[in-house]
Amino acid sequence: MGLTLGGRRGVAPAERCGATGGVTRRHDLRAVSSLRAGSATSRVAAAGSTLTPMTTTLITGTSSGMGLHAAIALARRGHRVIATLRRPDAAHELRSAAASAGVELDLRALDVTDEEACSSVVAAVQEQYGGIDVLVNNAGLGMVGTAEQLSMEAVEEQIAVNYLAPVRLTKLVLPGMREAGHGRILSVTSVGGAVGQPFADAYCGAKFALEGFMQSLAPVAERCGVHVSVMEPAAVASSFVENAVRPEVEDGPYAELLGAYYRRTEGAFAAAQSAESAGEAIAAAACDPSPVFRYQSSEGATAFVSASLADTDGERVLGFTRGWLD
Ligand code: NAP
Repeated sequence: MGLTLGGRRGVAPAERCGATGGVTRRHDLRAVSSLRAGSATSRVAAAGSTLTPMTTTLITGTSSGMGLHAAIALARRGHRVIATLRRPDAAHELRSAAASAGVELDLRALDVTDEEACSSVVAAVQEQYGGIDVLVNNAGLGMVGTAEQLSMEAVEEQIAVNYLAPVRLTKLVLPGMREAGHGRILSVTSVGGAVGQPFADAYCGAKFALEGFMQSLAPVAERCGVHVSVMEPAAVASSFVENAVRPEVEDGPYAELLGAYYRRTEGAFAAAQSAESAGEAIAAAACDPSPVFRYQSSEGATAFVSASLADTDGERVLGFTRGWLD
């Protein structure tokens, strides 16, 4: 199959990038059936379904929210889903959602900030299933605070979870995808990856960084048959707000502005998209037969992002974010 890119038609991506094989994967089904329930690598099994050669998808942060729903939605679409969680003991909701949906998931423990764990999970999945076709970088952590309220440790934590971790996983899966001549990497960023928002300095900084990395990678990876995309949700009803790190000191010179920000945020989350709907959007993007770089999970998110992308002097965005502090 040829590629049409920048007028260089007719060269197979696999040939361009030193691929050693085509799209065919080795799927070791015997290894699948040897998994033991209750181990760190356990399977959620639902009656009546069997694993067959299929797209192997690794997704991070599936204990709750859109990651949980995306894992289920991808399994429903026929993917073999490796659903990873930082805390294996927090898999209850995911297990019961999988059972209700009648799908199987391969659950694995993974703290995305743990470099060694990322390497070994990727290697084990590649070994067991013959490769990873799709990576969904979903795990993420919110953080509230304006510059002066943020310790450098807090900023570094944001970078570690929301930027370095997806970059690390991307680097780990790329060689296999390049060699196979195909793959899909979808990173859940945020509208906050395109629109800087008050009291989200560290969070938006990390998400902007991730979008920059992925947009830069996209045209190069595409030459190897690997599509790189981002998903930018707006407010989604999940554990995100509850889990977000808050400033240690909320009074002081920014107390009034922070109060206004909290009130505005409450309003935005009162009309939030459901995590199920955002999870479906992630699954649809990961399966899009004509992938693009930038996806949003709702019309509201598209309107928000487009306002920023067309805002060459930045005043349009500041025109509405200033108002969030009144
Ligand atoms: P969520 O319910 O809080 O889910 C976040 C997931 O990330 C959880 O499973 C969490 O695991 C996991 N996680 C956090 N740190 C991790 C780590 N070090 N290693 C592995 N997993 C880790 O929130 P969500 O809304 O579904 O968030 C999913 C993604 O969407 C995030 O990237 C977030 O930034 C992005 N997003 C959210 C919104 C929103 O309004 N909700 C909007 C735009 C973008 P634990 O259960 O162990 O904490």
